Amino acid sequence: MRLMATRRHVVRGLATAAASFALPCPSYAQSSARVVIIGGGFGGAACARALRKINPKLQVTLVEPNRIFTACPFSNEVIAGLRDIGAQQFSYEKIAAGGVSVIAQAAAKVDPQARSVGLADGTSLAYDRLVLAPGIDLRFDALPGYDEATAEKMPHAWKAGAQTMLLRRQLEAMEDGGTVVLAVPATPYRCPPAPYERASLIAHYLKAKKPRSKILILDAKDVFSQQRLFEKAWKEFYPGMIERIPLSEGGRVVSVEAATNTLVTDFGNHDAQVANVIPPQKAGNIANIAGAADKTGWCPIDAATFASKLVANIHVIGDAVIGGNAPKSASAANSEGKACAAVIASLLAGKPPERPTIEGTCYNTVTPGHAFSQSGNYQPRDDIFVEVMGSGFTSPVNALGEIRQREADQAQSWYKKITVETFG
Ligand code: FAD
Repeated sequence: MRLMATRRHVVRGLATAAASFALPCPSYAQSSARVVIIGGGFGGAACARALRKINPKLQVTLVEPNRIFTACPFSNEVIAGLRDIGAQQFSYEKIAAGGVSVIAQAAAKVDPQARSVGLADGTSLAYDRLVLAPGIDLRFDALPGYDEATAEKMPHAWKAGAQTMLLRRQLEAMEDGGTVVLAVPATPYRCPPAPYERASLIAHYLKAKKPRSKILILDAKDVFSQQRLFEKAWKEFYPGMIERIPLSEGGRVVSVEAATNTLVTDFGNHDAQVANVIPPQKAGNIANIAGAADKTGWCPIDAATFASKLVANIHVIGDAVIGGNAPKSASAANSEGKACAAVIASLLAGKPPERPTIEGTCYNTVTPGHAFSQSGNYQPRDDIFVEVMGSGFTSPVNALGEIRQREADQAQSWYKKITVETFG
């Protein structure tokens, strides 16, 4: 393998990769092709593991700057004080032990002509196929007044980790009677129902600790995912506590003023004791650097192969893609990672790839022991994913408490399964 990264950045698995490059036989060289994956989240890590499983001779390199991954699913429970951040964190050791070369660096450049990835330390990696799985970046240019410095005062908590803990600390520090304001963007953004799950779980915390407090959701859209389920639950568990202003009633936040913790809409200003500003988003910036993102900020793909519509020999998976009906979720990203691995293995072996089916399941917890979900399977049609007829499921609006409890238990099992499957 032509690997120019310094050894200290390689966690493990490099020896295997280097040994396989030494063999010159053309058929072996084909099967030991170099696949580089940028981004070790739910999509990229699943893809790396699946590639090695399908063909252990492939030289698979995962480029990810963080040595510990912090997962977003269930991070709303951390914000509400129901869970420790440690339950969200996973190392790459098991992935490396499976023969994937894990390089603890950010990718800074992609040269599609030379088929190489430039790393932050100036070294580079050659590839036969490149997978981009960088998740999202926040658009700090989209909401006047909201930049990286402001996010330290008005956290987004849309990438889990320090931001999650900052929002939690702000809630803990808030006096009883304060108003928590959530600014929610228009779609597309990562995990469409998550802002409403967050409002629910913050309400759970406030109800117990600061019952005179209120939550205001300023929303840049009129309707939202699983709306009837959420609204029914809010009436049942948090009557009078959560107010939502939709787009048509002036809910869209057009700017923020960090000095006064003010959220500005076309219809008036809202002062917050705690402001959770979730700004518009785009594919992780490396997708733009690689030339794989279009003017929307997201990546168009051939959904049958995950191949970029804009750059040859590059595949894109996870939140970064224009995915049609497939949600920007961990479950879909994980499913896309595995399906993309199967496509790449087939293409490298000179076989036509099978048509992928993507699975997406999303659980929402509104109070401990009370959850509902939405799920579906998605297949390629006209470059996007569309829901397979009859595969969609949304929990019924009227269900017994024991069914919501069962879904809460299933949510826990789902998290365990997907994190074990992705990180080992
Ligand atoms: P990520 O998992 O974000 O991984 C991207 C990785 O790429 C990151 O590790 C990043 O460090 C790395 N990266 C970025 N740029 C570079 C670079 N230049 N070089 C190298 N590495 C790079 N989904 C569900 O299915 N169920 C849920 O219950 C759920 N709850 C959620 C709750 C919240 C509050 C939020 C915000 C999201 C939730 N999600 C949920 C959505 C889920 O977290 C994302 O959809 C999922 O993480 C997307 O996977 P990904 O691989 O595309 O991106």
